[in-house]
Amino acid sequence: MTAPIVEAVAIWKSFGATPVLKGVSFAARRGEVMCLLGPSGAGKSTLLRCVNGLEAIDRGMCYVDGDPVGYRERAGRFHPLSEREASRQRAAIGMVFQGFNLFPHLTVLQNVMDAPVRVAGLGREAAASQAQEMLRRVGLAEKAGSYPRHLSGGQQQRVAIARALAMRPTLMLFDEPTSALDPELVGEVLDVMKELAATGMTMLVVTHEIGFAREVADTVLVMDGGEIIEHGSPGEVLHRPAHLRTQAFLSRVL
Ligand code: ADP
Ligand code: MG
Repeated sequence: MTAPIVEAVAIWKSFGATPVLKGVSFAARRGEVMCLLGPSGAGKSTLLRCVNGLEAIDRGMCYVDGDPVGYRERAGRFHPLSEREASRQRAAIGMVFQGFNLFPHLTVLQNVMDAPVRVAGLGREAAASQAQEMLRRVGLAEKAGSYPRHLSGGQQQRVAIARALAMRPTLMLFDEPTSALDPELVGEVLDVMKELAATGMTMLVVTHEIGFAREVADTVLVMDGGEIIEHGSPGEVLHRPAHLRTQAFLSRVL
């Protein structure tokens, strides 16, 4: 059994007096695609933000590639990372949101090059050729010189995926990547994600696309009320859910 790439160990998180994550645990091994389903307000986005260190955890720990998120472990003790170290750690985790968050004043190529140059210190020429390669992977090589506003939503989201890949992440997090898209543009983004999964990328995907979960996920988690209420293969969770709450959720989204 190889060590997991991402592991959450009894994560607790409250906003004020309201607990939002109540002892969440899961682990994904290298190359695993894990889909996270659940109703709005379940805590899915908060969980992703804890995994990449954007949100501090109250109790429990999250590990990415063996390292505690936001901490350094030394002789069994945890020391908080500096802001600089934390952002370097975060750079190894790709994150794709519902809104694409591309820089409007930069071309597609410049958007994809930005973090490798600014955060990773890659030379401009190397960053540009790598960006071209990432754009090829998402089928948008010919759009390198375009500005985001001239692209469809589906194309912009594919650029956002290329931008995340340009940092050579060990883990990719997706938070409802197709929820803001017109229905006819959803498929092209899911196709890129499917191809990424086929290359062996470890992926944690929050989505309402049950078909994608059924086809691509190795594991499906269902969250409700800050807890994981189902955890299993797509067949188990989608066809034989243990919880009435899962059945109710699935009947709403299917
Ligand atoms: P989901 O992504 O499953 O819809 P979220 O993780 O966004 O759920 O939110 C879970 C709960 O936490 C919601 O009740 C939400 O209102 C609350 N919440 C999320 N972020 C914050 C925040 N920064 N401050 C206060 N409450 C928050
Ligand atoms: Mg959310």
